[in-house]
Amino acid sequence: TSDAPCAVADRLPVRPDLAAVEPYGAPQLDVPVRLNTNETAEPPPPGFLPAVAERIVSLELNRYPDRPHRALREALAARLGLDAEQVWAANGSNEILLQLLQAYGGPERRVAYVRPGYSMYPELCRTALTPAVEVDLDDDFALTADVVTTIAATDPDLVLVPSPNNPVGTPVGRDAVRQLHARTRALVVVDEAYVEFGDADASVLPLLDELTRLVVVRTFSKAFRLAGLRLGYLAAADWVVQDVQKVRLPYHLDAVKQVTGLVALEQEEAFLGHRQRVADERDRVAAALRQLPGVQVWPSAANFLLLRTGVDDLFARLLERGVLVRDFSRRPRLVGCVRVTIGTADENDAFLTALRDVLA
Ligand code: PMP
Repeated sequence: TSDAPCAVADRLPVRPDLAAVEPYGAPQLDVPVRLNTNETAEPPPPGFLPAVAERIVSLELNRYPDRPHRALREALAARLGLDAEQVWAANGSNEILLQLLQAYGGPERRVAYVRPGYSMYPELCRTALTPAVEVDLDDDFALTADVVTTIAATDPDLVLVPSPNNPVGTPVGRDAVRQLHARTRALVVVDEAYVEFGDADASVLPLLDELTRLVVVRTFSKAFRLAGLRLGYLAAADWVVQDVQKVRLPYHLDAVKQVTGLVALEQEEAFLGHRQRVADERDRVAAALRQLPGVQVWPSAANFLLLRTGVDDLFARLLERGVLVRDFSRRPRLVGCVRVTIGTADENDAFLTALRDVLA
């Protein structure tokens, strides 16, 4: 055996593929008008936290929570018209997506996701050591038959599609999802984080009967106004739910969260009552933007709008005026674009005023 000392260092370098990585996240800046993370501006209904408080006082927090969170899954399944074996929850839909990649991805597998699309997809693929290909949507950012052909040609194991698309706002049609399923052998993951803001028939959930490899991903963070709760879920065939349990951490969903989610579902009607107000505000802001010279705005079925202007540093210039939006202006295909979340009427007016001021 060698007596040579091993090399000693003060720190262990991070995984090489993470060396240049910045932690993901939109800037959380303390400015008067924050319209950058697609939260809902209205708080949960007034009766919600008192009802949660009443329920959590009887929790046995010295015990681990119900690992398969049965009561929550049953409540979700009842709402969706599914069996509890087809539903699975986690800490935000981001964790759901990560669990899917951990279960079905990996170095020998391949993901295809659309561009533009949710900017966490590449991050999640990297974390899960899964090679990924980006496939461009068409010039109008639609998932056309040609786009499906390009995706199918990559022979993916998983396809990730946000519907409505973030950051564009457009929903993906059922036929496009059917085509993706028919022309690949992939798990087709439709990420419906914003679907409750759109038409009642916008969801692809009804296709679960027909498409065996379809996974629908949802969240409480957006229309359910509970971004602070960190709760998301999937609906799929029962084998998907069995497979993600191979990678979930034991007791990943804490007891307080399970009960809080249940109370939210019990109060669903009150929770979702704001959607028409959001849609009306969105349409008002979109109409105002269309009046402005040189501003392009995409049709949106979500609680945000994507717009393109000729102003190079729009993000910074809005920020100087106390309005925080999401900057996409240096992203491929989104050059010159920012995304603005629909806030309260006052916040939306503050945004429009700041924008008119910049454009003047
Ligand atoms: N999918 C999409 C398309 C999103 O925009 C977001 C949040 N920005 C998520 C998933 C993740 O949301 P959460 O983890 O809060 O459920």
